[in-house]
Amino acid sequence: MANSPFPYFTSGTIVHGFGRGSKELGCPTANFDETTVEKLPSSIHQGVYYGWAKLLKKGDNEIYKMVTSVGTNPFYNGEKKTMETHILHQFREDFYDETLKIVLIGEIRKMTTFENANELAAAIQNDISTASNKLDSDECGQYLKHSFFQQ
Ligand code: ADP
Ligand code: MG
Repeated sequence: MANSPFPYFTSGTIVHGFGRGSKELGCPTANFDETTVEKLPSSIHQGVYYGWAKLLKKGDNEIYKMVTSVGTNPFYNGEKKTMETHILHQFREDFYDETLKIVLIGEIRKMTTFENANELAAAIQNDISTASNKLDSDECGQYLKHSFFQQ
């Protein structure tokens, strides 16, 4: 597709957000620092995206499936644009201040608001299974060998 912003490769530092990801929704999201959010091209609008993530941490060479949201989080009346990645993996410990590398491969849906937290939580579960299915394709699998992920 001409002019598509995807695949979009980026990396940044994980900072503290509002703590609502895991607590309310059972889905922690690693929030990127402001500089990384500001670098996003305007063609990547508010929405939910699927792709791969790699944590630059000693002993962890995995490339994980992920879902990333970009936007102002209207359900929470947010004003600040954030980029937050939920990795489809159970980690033993948090990774604040670490570097996370991601590739956004495509869009799952636009960011919208919801009637209540249950609806938002259901949408997120749906995003996670959509992402997981899409990432099983050969087309998405090719990014696992991409030089971006070779440290
Ligand atoms: P915050 O508002 O500070 O972002 P969250 O409740 O969203 O808090 O939790 C995010 C943090 O949880 C991440 O910064 C990371 O350190 C940790 N974490 C643990 N497991 C995951 C995961 N599977 N995906 C994303 N972050 C995770
Ligand atoms: Mg978060």
